[in-house]
Amino acid sequence: MIKLPSKHLFELPEGIIYLDGNSLGPLPRGARERASKVISEEWGQELIRAWNSADWMTLPKRVGDRIARLIGAPEGSVATGDTLSIKVYQALAAALAMRPGRSKILSDSGNFPTDLYMADGLVKLAGKGHRISTPAPQDVIANIDEDTAAVMLTHVDYRTGRMHDMQAVTKAAHAAGAVMIWDLAHSAGAVPLDLLASEAEFAVGCTYKYFNGGPGAPAFIYARPDIVNGIEPALSGWMGHAAPFAMAREYAPAMSTERLRVGTPPIVQLSILDAALDAWDGVDMNALRAASIDLCEQFIASVEARCPQLKLASPRNPAERGSQVSFAFEHGYEAMQALIGQGLIGDFRAPDIMRFGFTPLYIGSDDVAAAVDIMERTFREELWRDPKYQVRSAVT
Ligand SMILES: *Cc1c(COP(=O)(O)O)cnc(C)c1O
Repeated sequence: MIKLPSKHLFELPEGIIYLDGNSLGPLPRGARERASKVISEEWGQELIRAWNSADWMTLPKRVGDRIARLIGAPEGSVATGDTLSIKVYQALAAALAMRPGRSKILSDSGNFPTDLYMADGLVKLAGKGHRISTPAPQDVIANIDEDTAAVMLTHVDYRTGRMHDMQAVTKAAHAAGAVMIWDLAHSAGAVPLDLLASEAEFAVGCTYKYFNGGPGAPAFIYARPDIVNGIEPALSGWMGHAAPFAMAREYAPAMSTERLRVGTPPIVQLSILDAALDAWDGVDMNALRAASIDLCEQFIASVEARCPQLKLASPRNPAERGSQVSFAFEHGYEAMQALIGQGLIGDFRAPDIMRFGFTPLYIGSDDVAAAVDIMERTFREELWRDPKYQVRSAVT
């Protein structure tokens, strides 16, 4: 088992405390070398032959199998590629087709906008009168009924870090005959997951957050092995075909999770992700979770003691929280800019949430202590009032 934190596995800039690995993980050491090899030796020298000679063709599945281990899914049950928005669409389309007589898609008011936008687009295209319901997160179970086709939730809330009880919600969905879809964007690589035991039909997630796959790294989709071959893929691309190079006119989906692939895989990004996953070899997710809880508890206690201006916006109970801590502050945007200006990187989510991610692979308790020192000074001296911190950028 590896010792945490393992900072040496990452290229972290000097003088930066990075509490935003929940949004974009840092550069793993092996990634640069791998990308360079793929570009120079494989693409550069092998050209199209690399699909076979460098084994590009099987890379999506090999990477999927490595992700599977980290989310409690069996080998062969995870397909990679595209972006998370696309994977949400595919999972929801498949779920609705599995429950043709039902009209409700149940999500919650904390879900990430793109998940709901993709659902909106699908509902419109399908034209079957589906409706999307978004009650408060704590009211989800009470809103599951006989008309619910799919329950589609993000396991860990991107704003507050509040975590749904995966087992309980999935059980309630199934008791009413609904299909369960989990978005693991903020839980994969953050908390231990046992997807197979949850019995959820689908899970989707991205890999540029806790898995450190780099900006735009491919997403993943899990389908429960006993149902996968019954899924009619909504995005019936050739890479999900049973025999893409047969070039047949008739679409025949692969008899595996590979049927949830769409088009040509992004080989450079997938290779970087493959290298990034090396950092996860030998990581015990329960040990990582324990370290994450320690860091979050230390952070909450110190911030509450030293920055009374901030109000905790995450659940206080660690069992109900992912690996991030959010504080509400009226001038959160400006304050986050002031922290970033001093080398403490977190992020801001409208309207007033300052968000800090805790990633035990490369963050230790000394980083938390240093972060809170910067925060205390920033709020006590109101450094965020400086006009240079008032300018808004496109990405917050
Ligand atoms: C980060 C995130 C996304 C991003 O989707 P992309 O298609 O990768 O841009 C979607 N959903 C959730 C819940 C997220 O946290």
